[in-house]
Amino acid sequence: MHILIVEDEQKIAAFIRRGLTENGFVVDVAEDGEQGLEYALARKVDLIILDVALPKRDGWSVMTELRRAEIHTPVLFLTARDSVSDRVKGFDLGADDYLIKPFHFSELLARVRSLLRRSPERREETITVGDLEIDPRRHRVTRSGTALNLTPKEFSLLLFLASSAGDIVSRTEIVEQVWDINFDTGTNVVDVMMRRLRAKVDDPFEKKMIQTIRGVGYVLKAD
Ligand code: CA
Repeated sequence: MHILIVEDEQKIAAFIRRGLTENGFVVDVAEDGEQGLEYALARKVDLIILDVALPKRDGWSVMTELRRAEIHTPVLFLTARDSVSDRVKGFDLGADDYLIKPFHFSELLARVRSLLRRSPERREETITVGDLEIDPRRHRVTRSGTALNLTPKEFSLLLFLASSAGDIVSRTEIVEQVWDINFDTGTNVVDVMMRRLRAKVDDPFEKKMIQTIRGVGYVLKAD
């Protein structure tokens, strides 16, 4: 497993690199945003650990460029900022998880392993629910044959709902499965993301597939 660290603080980069190497990962370090982007565009890695505050090009911008280039490698952001609006911004761009500095290495390792386990690149089969088709391998979603343009985070959320089609999933389950982060579930991040997902998956179509079960959670079903 090959991991790219994009981090300008040398002490932090060295600390992460040493720990990951000891755990059997192949690790490369880029010291600024430009270098990190170039590396990630040129070589296939399994995971990117991306600092937000970077010289030359910040983490948001690196992320945006990667997704624009259709590179869907999972990204773990490192950030000192922990406001909900920053998190939502990161998720919207396609961040898969966050770690707030300072952190313990054991926590980083747990997040890395979890991200690699549920990396969408690893799921192959197309999931069909009614007229909705999800192709995890190519990150493509269509409804009634119309391609839907989802962010990676919206894609993960839809994939989770569709994998549990017909079953009610709670907000807590969504947070654990889709964000893999110990959110305070009182935050509105799930609701915000669900609204965005519905705007794409349901609003343009007559039949609504995502239903809210008040006080319980959500369910996706064909009819
Ligand atoms: Ca930094």
